[in-house]
Amino acid sequence: MTTTMPIGTSKPISAVATPTDRDFQSTWTHRAWVAIGCTSVLVCLAKSVMAASERSPVMWFVPLLAGYFGYLLMDLTSGFYHWAFDNYGDASTPLFGSQIEAFQHHHKWPWMVTRIQFANNIHKFARALAFVVVPIDFVSKDMVVHAFVGVYFGCIMFSLQIHAWAHGTKSRLPPLVVALQDASVLISPSQHDHHHPPHNNSYCSVSGVWNEFLERKRVFEKLEMELFLKFGVRPRSWNEPSSDSTEEIKGD
Ligand SMILES: [Zn+2]
Ligand SMILES: [Zn+2]
Repeated sequence: MTTTMPIGTSKPISAVATPTDRDFQSTWTHRAWVAIGCTSVLVCLAKSVMAASERSPVMWFVPLLAGYFGYLLMDLTSGFYHWAFDNYGDASTPLFGSQIEAFQHHHKWPWMVTRIQFANNIHKFARALAFVVVPIDFVSKDMVVHAFVGVYFGCIMFSLQIHAWAHGTKSRLPPLVVALQDASVLISPSQHDHHHPPHNNSYCSVSGVWNEFLERKRVFEKLEMELFLKFGVRPRSWNEPSSDSTEEIKGD
């Protein structure tokens, strides 16, 4: 194995030699950001519940609907985010280079995400969303906004862990996670397997509920063609699968 760094870890990939157990471990800084992110999301959800409880029971469906919309929208967002990073840019792309490279490394060593400890895996998203959600906690008084923001950003924060669980072995996952995967609330290993390889479909990785629709409508294929005709940029998914696309090393 040469140099690599999986999704969710903090050092630039090119600067890291073969990952060690230390690279996968959570630090107290990671845990602190996760605590801040979780608190900001929970405050948002609590404010929504408190506001709804002051209304008639009939009004409860409004924040519930907003939360469900946030959950659905985040799965769709994860699909477009994943598709864009899988297909365009490289390690030198400003701002996103390390993530793009990490996605490619994940294709080569998919099992590696199961080695990353929880807070290490999600702290970057927890940190980023805290800067958005904390101000909303203080400023907004709308229960619908709180419900949507709480669920949408909560799903963003946990999306990398949900994805890591989709690479897990059932016997090693928490029973609640397995139950949610079996109920299709979270994307299951069998659903996510469709992506690894050929890495040109099933991009949505929170619940995966959008994958079938997006594939049936060939949304990403049409987008790729549009971008090619307009800018002459070929997506990586048009390349022939290469021998280095997935390394046959299993983590479990
Ligand atoms: Zn994966
Ligand atoms: Zn991918």
